[in-house]
Amino acid sequence: MSTATPETPRYALEIRDLRKTYAARGGESEKEALKGIDLAIPRGSIFGLLGPNGAGKSTLINILAGLVNKTSGSVRIWGFDQDKNPRMSRASIGVVPQELHLDPFFTPHEAMEIQAGLYGVPPSARQTDTLLTALGLGDKMHVGARSLSGGMKRRLLIGKALAHSPPVLILDEPTAGVDIDLRRQLWAYVRRLNDEGVTVILTTHYLEEAEEMCDRIAIIDHGKVIANEGKSALLSRIDRKTMTITAGEPFTTIPPLLAAHGLLDCSLGEDGTLAITFSRSETNPGEILDLVRNSDIDIRDVMTHEPGLEQIFMDLTASS
Ligand code: ADP
Repeated sequence: MSTATPETPRYALEIRDLRKTYAARGGESEKEALKGIDLAIPRGSIFGLLGPNGAGKSTLINILAGLVNKTSGSVRIWGFDQDKNPRMSRASIGVVPQELHLDPFFTPHEAMEIQAGLYGVPPSARQTDTLLTALGLGDKMHVGARSLSGGMKRRLLIGKALAHSPPVLILDEPTAGVDIDLRRQLWAYVRRLNDEGVTVILTTHYLEEAEEMCDRIAIIDHGKVIANEGKSALLSRIDRKTMTITAGEPFTTIPPLLAAHGLLDCSLGEDGTLAITFSRSETNPGEILDLVRNSDIDIRDVMTHEPGLEQIFMDLTASS
């Protein structure tokens, strides 16, 4: 949409040739943490930012949050250039940090009010009570932050990041160390925010979570974007599929017809099954079943399994 204005930008975030080199310090030489990142994150998406440790994710997020100065490149948040319009670009983003750091002397209500005040939100426009209630902290509004559990602190940090109603929310490893129930609750809340129009960017180590939550996923490695596409496109990049066959008699050898067929892999399972890995684009599952039947095998069960994001992640980061 060429008519996009800062009020309705097409991209919630536009990052062009972003570079960051940390200066040498102590005995360490300088470190090029970001080597020319280009990313355009569509408004309204739930965007996953994945990468192994040291890939540059925190550096990128800290630049977006205004906590680290970039070396070069440009960042536009909600259409506002970070250099030309720092106030508006900062007001357009909320960041939930990884660390559960909260001032122990303030209650959740006070912490939210202070945060809103820092962003110049007038008292009449503040949403402290609504946000705290939506985050399940309604009955904890006025207790000391010290008495909050880890999960409650995490939710309060989300509330603080939303105190100025930013259209873009970044969650940095939001569910690290969070139990499964709370994780589900957090994701339900994130989905709700997204339904209400908030663009969400999250980093996570839980690949299955990115698979479940995100509509687009970028993978960063060694300071570069090595993949950036819709989740289904990314998943469809995997050509490999595995078929596991259980027969009337346990498999003890690989049937010669299969061994000779140019499959990617055939292996015997400890439970007597046979796992056949093949290329979806080159081999039709029917062909494989014919080969098994022609080997006089009495098929009792067939299961197919497609590798997920985990496999893509390993394949991509191994080859980069
Ligand atoms: P990630 O969040 O993906 O684990 P980081 O952005 O933390 O990656 O780190 C990227 C690279 O930059 C790493 O090699 C890291 O050691 C280096 N780095 C991060 N912060 C600093 C810093 N303040 N000074 C020097 N090097 C840093």
